[in-house]
Amino acid sequence: MKIAVLSRNAELYSTRRLVEAAKQKGHDVRVIDPLRCYMTIATQRPTIHYKGEELIGYDAIIPRIGASITFYGTAVVRQFEMMGVYSINESVAISRSRDKLRSLQLLARKGIGLPVTGFSHSTQYTDDLIKLAGGAPLVIKLLEGTQGIGVVLAETNKAAESVIEAFRGLKENILVQEFIKEAGGSDIRCFVVGDKVVAAMKRQGKEGEFRSNLHRGGSASIVRLTPEERSTAVRAARIMGLNVAGVDLLRSNHGPVVMEVNSSPGLEGIEVATEKDVAGIIIQFIERQAKPGKTRTRGK
Ligand code: ADP
Ligand code: GLU
Repeated sequence: MKIAVLSRNAELYSTRRLVEAAKQKGHDVRVIDPLRCYMTIATQRPTIHYKGEELIGYDAIIPRIGASITFYGTAVVRQFEMMGVYSINESVAISRSRDKLRSLQLLARKGIGLPVTGFSHSTQYTDDLIKLAGGAPLVIKLLEGTQGIGVVLAETNKAAESVIEAFRGLKENILVQEFIKEAGGSDIRCFVVGDKVVAAMKRQGKEGEFRSNLHRGGSASIVRLTPEERSTAVRAARIMGLNVAGVDLLRSNHGPVVMEVNSSPGLEGIEVATEKDVAGIIIQFIERQAKPGKTRTRGK
């Protein structure tokens, strides 16, 4: 098959591994920087061009669209879909996953366990917002934060009030969330491909840190999932419409709760922690699934 990995940087671990796995299985694979694609919008024959040539004959694409290029990146994925090229994650699903509030609303609607969560842009009714989320201790998050930056634990209602007020000054959208203390500073990353969790790891924050992000000094280890955790992760990915997803769970005493569903989950942490060939599993999934015109996206 002829496969394109849509990635800004061929040197990234995840990109390299996908290329390696595709080559190993005998495929013709190329890394394409989505920001350098240019396109024709046409009713008859939509095209994509790259470095002066037309991209033709692709059977499948693997989008690795970073959050900062979601807008243009998903337009490129959509263009491939309009040309009938199979995308392992469809443009609509990638856009959906990038909107955290929309994702949480969708997951809640379908009965997925979530931390009790309030959200607000700039209410002055701070007390009421704190009450809605169940009172302190609370985790307060900037909606646009990544890698644990802008995620604050407020142990008392007074502290929560100050943090919410400070964020309000920034005119940011915020989440006010039940603190899952029993998670003990750890979370679980479930790597879903198709209808299976193919690898999972537990990330543990460093001593005295409730955030488990590896960027914040957390460490990863393998973990055995319960059947409920497995099915929650697989259902969450399916609801989002993602074939490849990183589903982050917290172990709460009311069962697994989903924090986030990532549409371009990194391969390095999970492959190193579990010693599994996750890239190979992704390529095998494409081998089974990719067919011309197999997309639900119709450009909306
Ligand atoms: P980011 O997307 O920036 O990584 P997260 O929302 O994933 O932010 O939060 C970072 C970390 O903080 C999580 O990995 C988790 O360990 C911890 N955390 C987040 N929300 C909660 C919560 N409601 N209860 C307990 N721990 C939490
Ligand atoms: N219009 C989009 C679609 O075709 C969005 C629907 C949604 O996200 O629920 O799926």
